[in-house]
Amino acid sequence: MQRIPFLDLPPLASAGGSVALPGSKSISNRVLLLAALSQGTTAVRSLLDSDDTRVMLDALRELGCGVEERGDGLVRITGLGGAQPRSPARLFLGNAGTAMRPLTAALALLGGEYELSGIARMHERPIGDLVDALRQLGCHIDYLGNDGYPPLRIAHGGGRPVLQLDAPIRVRGDVSSQFLTALLMALPLVAQQQDLVIEVVGELISKPYIHITLELLARFGIAVQREGWQRFTIPAGSRYRSPGEIHVEADASSASYFVALGAIAPSSNGKNGLNIEGVGLDSIQGDIRFIEAARAMGAQITGGANSLQVRRGSWPLKAISLDCNHIPDAAMTLAVMALYAQGTTELSNIASWRVKETDRIAAMATELRKLGATVEEGADYVRITPPASSADWRAASIHTYDDHRMAMCFALAAFNPARLPVRIEDPGCVAKTYPGYFGALFSVSQAAGTDIPVICIDGPTASGKGTLAAAVASQLGYHLLDSGALYRLTALAAGGAGVAIEPANEPRLAELAAHLPVRFDGARVFLHGQDVTDAIRQEAIGMQASEVSRLPAVRQALVALQHGFRRLPGLVADGRDMGTVIFPAAPLKVYLTASARCRAERRHKQLISKGISTIIDDLRADLEARDASDMQRSTAPLKPARDALLLDSSGLTVDQTVARVLDWWQARRPFSA
Ligand code: C5P
Repeated sequence: MQRIPFLDLPPLASAGGSVALPGSKSISNRVLLLAALSQGTTAVRSLLDSDDTRVMLDALRELGCGVEERGDGLVRITGLGGAQPRSPARLFLGNAGTAMRPLTAALALLGGEYELSGIARMHERPIGDLVDALRQLGCHIDYLGNDGYPPLRIAHGGGRPVLQLDAPIRVRGDVSSQFLTALLMALPLVAQQQDLVIEVVGELISKPYIHITLELLARFGIAVQREGWQRFTIPAGSRYRSPGEIHVEADASSASYFVALGAIAPSSNGKNGLNIEGVGLDSIQGDIRFIEAARAMGAQITGGANSLQVRRGSWPLKAISLDCNHIPDAAMTLAVMALYAQGTTELSNIASWRVKETDRIAAMATELRKLGATVEEGADYVRITPPASSADWRAASIHTYDDHRMAMCFALAAFNPARLPVRIEDPGCVAKTYPGYFGALFSVSQAAGTDIPVICIDGPTASGKGTLAAAVASQLGYHLLDSGALYRLTALAAGGAGVAIEPANEPRLAELAAHLPVRFDGARVFLHGQDVTDAIRQEAIGMQASEVSRLPAVRQALVALQHGFRRLPGLVADGRDMGTVIFPAAPLKVYLTASARCRAERRHKQLISKGISTIIDDLRADLEARDASDMQRSTAPLKPARDALLLDSSGLTVDQTVARVLDWWQARRPFSA
């Protein structure tokens, strides 16, 4: 999704159908690094395409690995084997902890000169315990900013460092389990001569992530022995071997949003709950145990090897008190489920939330309170009591702190009983792990049609409606209906079928309009599978569209098709009768005009830029003729709706008209700034 400032979710009513989840972030980045350290080529299937995997792929390229992306989730990585990575190199790792920590360890052991940095938040995420462990071994690592935090420099100009590997390597386990993961993935590179022992100091948090690391190491030929969660031994003679091909499971943390959705939302008509594809009950990911917590709150969940089925069970949900150390990421979803529970939910042992993408405990408390919940936060827990009654819910603009999970879990607040919309700020931050999240959510959620907002932009020919509507739709993340295109398509289809556009042919023309074999794909329009985007824009087709649009039966035939564009999360519709006939109850109607002279000049410029020469006066005469025809016809004549806001764009730039309409829209929204 393009980075838009906010996305407003209308109140959602029900859910059902099937959703296919993207690959797991944790598995994707581990598999990429393991493939990069192995000999030979690994075909990685269903790799997650997200910000965090992108920075990892870029880093691997930079280090001299072969990276071939096929675009359908298949990526081929040719590893370094025993070879030295390319050095010196500067690696930018965004906000991907799963890239920063393991790469630091692997590169420090392999030797060379590297600088590793990220976005500002990455420079606030601790790495000192890992660096301490690596320094103990004899690695040279300097902090380029604050001690204990990236950016870092690894400096071994003369190739591999001389390492002291006899004593057990001690690493703290109570800040981030990624330090241990990093050592487990890097140390096999130097375990040729002797067993290497890692000892965890302090209680190991997030053990399930270590489980994933060990499972994947085994797939790449490294059999780590472990004694409890305190001592891990990498056997002498360990060597990375590519499994040839590996499939990335769907992300169990991403599954949590849809499990919660199934638990919260009533089933849509005719649908039997929600089906989640790509991850099943025997997943190697720890967050799969979110399911136990969701069941405890009331969800009905069944599943197989590669899918889950969820339905609403108890309602309201049951409040729980849970130690969430084993599901730190998915536990955020429980916090939002708590809004729908009876009583107070306590999520404890979540201190690691404070050092994630943002301080998640503080963020969660602040944003839940905005919705009307009562929240108590401690150093390592939150206690959430939902709004007392439907009247206590508030329409909130949720700040997301550049944290994908904040954006994803708060979307579920749109099922609130007060039927208030929810604003998610910076929704594009979901790209960290799940770029298609909102599309997937909307594909399985339903809202009452009247709750889905429509912004109507009507006006005469060449007033700039199309440009304005497209810009407003893209700013708001809404769908776009260019209703004029439907009349143009009808005219084009009539030409193709040899039907003359005249009143005598009204029934046949209406028949053509009712069954237009049309497909919209972004800004492109297809008729009978053929791209007609440019063909329907011709001036001659515009005149014929005006003729065909005078016929009441044709207009009637296009009504259902136009209503069908009103889909989640909202619609911007442009035309002549959007506000008067098609969406008469729309919450914002704009009537856009500009003087005939100004419109003729704009159209003239547009045509010249396409290399088409025209005479301004002729253009103006055509425009005025079409306006006259559109205004004088008996059905749905062009005129402003009674409640439309008039906007004369003659003296305004496109940006100014867009800003004006967005201001009007903001003023109608219930969110306080
Ligand atoms: O907006 P555009 O120039 O693409 O529209 C082509 C023609 O289709 C217009 O001149 C008008 O006659 C007709 N039209 C309509 N009602 C709409 C949109 C377009 O009658 N909602």
